[in-house]
Amino acid sequence: MDPTERAELNARLELLSDWLYLGCRRARAEPEFQMPPSPESAPRKRRGPEWMEDPSYYAETLENIQNEVLRCAKCRLAQNRTYTAFGEGVLNPPVLVVGEGPGAEEDKLGRPFVGPAGKLLDRMLAAVNLDREKNCYITNIVKCRPPMNRDPAPDERETCLPYLERQIRFLRPRVILALGRTAAQTLLKTERGVGALRGAFLDRDGLPLLVTYHPSAILRDESLKRPAWEDLKKLRAFLDTLDAGSSE
Ligand code: SF4
Repeated sequence: MDPTERAELNARLELLSDWLYLGCRRARAEPEFQMPPSPESAPRKRRGPEWMEDPSYYAETLENIQNEVLRCAKCRLAQNRTYTAFGEGVLNPPVLVVGEGPGAEEDKLGRPFVGPAGKLLDRMLAAVNLDREKNCYITNIVKCRPPMNRDPAPDERETCLPYLERQIRFLRPRVILALGRTAAQTLLKTERGVGALRGAFLDRDGLPLLVTYHPSAILRDESLKRPAWEDLKKLRAFLDTLDAGSSE
C-alpha cells in the first residue's frame, strides 16, 4: 500500500471510531505544512563523467552518428567529396584505429583504409592478430577526403572531431592506435611529432593511446617499417596483459 492510500485508510478508520465512540466528529488540528527539503540539504547523487549526465548519450547509436555524417556540410571538405568514409569494424573493439582522412579510393567507396595504405594496414594488424572484421574499428579524424590528398586543415579537424568523440564514447575501445602525425596531434592536442610521441602508451581522457607511423608514410619510407613493427608488438603485449588481467 502506498503512503497516500495508507493515510486515506487511517482517516476513514479515525472517522469511523469517532462516530462509534462519540457519536460525532472529534475536533482535530490540521497537519502542519512541511517545507520540502531544499536542494542543498537533499542527498547528492553520485555524478559520473560529464557525458554520462547528457541524456542524449543514452539515445546515441552508431547509425545516428553515421546518418549525421552522411548529410554533414559543416566544413569545406563536403564540397568535393563523393562519399563520406565514416568508419567500419566491430562494436566494443579492443582497438580503435584512427587515421587522418579518406584518400581517393576511400572517397570512391565510402570506406576507410581500402587503398594501398589500407591494404598495408590490414597486413600490419593481421601480424598482431588484429582484424577490422573481428576485433578492431577503423576510422579517421576527418570523414571527407581533403582535395589532392592534402593534410586536413586545423579548422576542418576541429569541426569533424566531435563525430569521432561520439564514436569513441559509443564504441568504448580499450585502446586507441593513432596513425601518423595528424591523428596523434589532433587526439592529444599537441604539436609534437610522431617520433616524439610514439614508444609509450599515452593518456587520452582516461584511455590508453599508442602512436605509430601512418601506413602511407611507411609506403614512402621503408625505414619506418621496423619502428612501426615495434609499436605493434607493444600494442599486442598490452592487449595480452589486459586480457590476462580480465581473466584472473
Ligand atoms: S569532414 Fe567532417 S565536418 Fe567536414 S563535412 Fe565531412 S563530415 Fe562534416
